[in-house]
Amino acid sequence: MKRRDFVTTSAVASVAAWCGTRRVAAAGQAGEASGMPKLASPEKPAELNLCLQWWAIPGESIAEKLDFLEANGFAAVEIPSGDWPMKNADAMIEAMRGRKLFLATACGPSDFSYADPAKREAEVQKFLPVLEALGRMKSVGLILCPARGKLSEPGHLSGKELRKDFVENTGKRLAEHAAKHGTAIVLEPLRRNETPFLRQVADGARMAADIGRGATVMGDFWHMGLEETSFMGAFICAGKLLSHVHIAGLKERIIPGVHPEADQYVDGFKGLKLIGYRGAVSFEGGWPKNPADSKKEIPQEEKTRLIRNMVKLLREQWAMA
Ligand code: MG
Repeated sequence: MKRRDFVTTSAVASVAAWCGTRRVAAAGQAGEASGMPKLASPEKPAELNLCLQWWAIPGESIAEKLDFLEANGFAAVEIPSGDWPMKNADAMIEAMRGRKLFLATACGPSDFSYADPAKREAEVQKFLPVLEALGRMKSVGLILCPARGKLSEPGHLSGKELRKDFVENTGKRLAEHAAKHGTAIVLEPLRRNETPFLRQVADGARMAADIGRGATVMGDFWHMGLEETSFMGAFICAGKLLSHVHIAGLKERIIPGVHPEADQYVDGFKGLKLIGYRGAVSFEGGWPKNPADSKKEIPQEEKTRLIRNMVKLLREQWAMA
């Protein structure tokens, strides 16, 4: 067995061991007979719905940005969190009318690990109106990171204590509010240097399942590159609970395609195809350094070229998966 085959076989086997989901464990007889899990075919085939975060889209006005997305093969848009959804909901609803784009997620900082219940409550209250605005805009959901910082920082909950509070209190209440307004919370696993708490997609999926209605999970290729043993396995673990994907270069957290030898997403895309994923795959990362002047950003024409290059690369890899 070649190493690559072994890695793939191990990844799928370990998925069965970790997930224990019906999707994998209810494997067909053929799969059970051979000792390998067999996945049920998705009801609808997966789609590659490419997406950009707001800051990365060329253009000044909302309409200009959405025009760029449509003209360049994107299917979705990701907006900022904070006050942005409340301030721009009406304009966005109007600007999205008649377009083929869908509104993916809103992304911004969050932290529900404060030991002081009043601070946790303030965080919940801060996001309730955001969820209402996202619901009005028919957004997929609000990205939340349950905890930031280092393990056992003074003044912060961690481990079981934090999980219990998030699943039964803060996260649960936000998920219920989201569901009531037709949207969801989207749990984002991060890297170990960024969070002491949620680092793997399978863990986030379990948490979302425990929270119940209104809770989903996402995978960010950049964080997953450090934290997961298999992109495919991680996505299979999330299954139907996967509602969003972030993507960046795997060598540097910049737009995919600058280091094409490192930017290999086929394994992850196979996982997305296996689960029938139809959400957004959204670029979250920076730009390469400006070779002419390291203090200045690269020119907009170069950014636009790199965006088009990314679209081509991701489409090619999706076709290979
Ligand atoms: Mg991310």
